[in-house]
Amino acid sequence: MSLRLYNTLSGQIEELTPQPGRPLSIYACGPTVYDYGHIGNFRTFVQVDILRRFLKLQGMPLRHVMNITDVDDKIMARAAAAGQSIGDYTAKYEAAFLEDLNALAIEQPEFLARATEHIPQMVGLIEKLVERGCAYRGENGSYYFRIASFPGYGKLSKKDLAGMEDGARVDVDEYDKDSARDFALWKAAKPGEFHWNTPLGPGRPGWHIECSAMATEYLGETFDLHTGGEDLMFPHHENEIAQSESASGKTFARHWMHIRFLLVEGKKMSKSLGNFYTLRDLLLRGYKASAIRFLLTAVPYRNQLNFTFEGLTESTNAVERLRTFIERLRKGEFPAGVNAAILEATERAGKNFIASLEDDLNTAEARAAIFELVRLANSSADRGELRQDNVAPILEVLAKFDQVFAVLEDHDDAVTRFALDWAAKENRLTEATTELVAGYSLSAEAIDKLVEERTKARKSKDFARADAIRKELAEKGILLEDSADGARWRRK
Ligand SMILES: [Zn+2]
Repeated sequence: MSLRLYNTLSGQIEELTPQPGRPLSIYACGPTVYDYGHIGNFRTFVQVDILRRFLKLQGMPLRHVMNITDVDDKIMARAAAAGQSIGDYTAKYEAAFLEDLNALAIEQPEFLARATEHIPQMVGLIEKLVERGCAYRGENGSYYFRIASFPGYGKLSKKDLAGMEDGARVDVDEYDKDSARDFALWKAAKPGEFHWNTPLGPGRPGWHIECSAMATEYLGETFDLHTGGEDLMFPHHENEIAQSESASGKTFARHWMHIRFLLVEGKKMSKSLGNFYTLRDLLLRGYKASAIRFLLTAVPYRNQLNFTFEGLTESTNAVERLRTFIERLRKGEFPAGVNAAILEATERAGKNFIASLEDDLNTAEARAAIFELVRLANSSADRGELRQDNVAPILEVLAKFDQVFAVLEDHDDAVTRFALDWAAKENRLTEATTELVAGYSLSAEAIDKLVEERTKARKSKDFARADAIRKELAEKGILLEDSADGARWRRK
């Protein structure tokens, strides 16, 4: 197995390796569960899933942890505004996050760790930092990390700390990229505020300490790979390194992977620009989960992805092309024997696919290798030159492709139906969703039945009935494509 991955810490492409005799250990910064996830979040999670699935395909044993941030400034504020406990408030969004992972065929890691279930570990880590002189208690009862005590501060983000003022503090979890200041490890409770009673006094952990404590709990003081969106590099990841390495005296994560943000229609995604989309928004516009997932892998993780509606349509068509091709191979009958040129192209595609992913997870090249094979095999089949013994090797390459990209098995109907049920429950169905609701009033099974009935009607030359069925399906946005191998349907 081999994977050369860019390491933000060293600024170089390096071989990703486990420590001797151990599974590869990965800590992935997970969601803060205060709202529904947007497609920018899911670009990160899908790319980490590609990494995970590729390592598994290569036979690498994994110990992969993802945290769920279920206490932080935003959650405290929103739960208070909703008049709910933070537990009740976050439970809903944590469940929604897991549903969204499922919708996008993102595998769950070996461990999901909730911050609120690891308070003693965080307190222990803060106590250790105080003992070592790297943390101190402020007059407000909060605890802060003393940045001046950690000479390596800035090594990940390559931040220049010149002019930093010793003892200048910041209390909020998320702060501006220009302020390297002593940050809060533990926030003393204000009167009436939700808190834990601990040896540090009543309060709650800061955001950064969570990840340090939970990474160490599951993976040890040193582990192999830490992942996250590029926005987390500073201050979050820089602070994780400072806390962990000050406490242990050892390297925290050996390798850091940062996933670049996406643009939407060429612009930074923001609510004020009206280009801010959750996964559910897109599903309710009729886009399929597989197409969304596939678009999120269109360019390598370190490149900026421009997420557009045109791109989504292309992505839908690309997935459809792959599924149609597989069906053609499975159902078609080809002359016996093997076409040597196609066999060679199949082997080449398989090799290029793996080599592209080994090269810093180049998803664009890996996809291109597969589409090249599909193009060659399709045109060979059109000319009657594809042979039966070509089928199994091609399907094998596609199976490998799908172990990583996970778009070929069709769960799209179930996902969209789920989103529609959710929207109905939450009163989020709008005029724009009316057509979609009508289309999904027919289940996949019901459509299969109608298609079958139509095929029978055509065979018995009952063309009136066959046409009536086609018309009924068309009215519900379902398209039929007839081919030599039978009829296929898909939703518009
Ligand atoms: Zn984190």
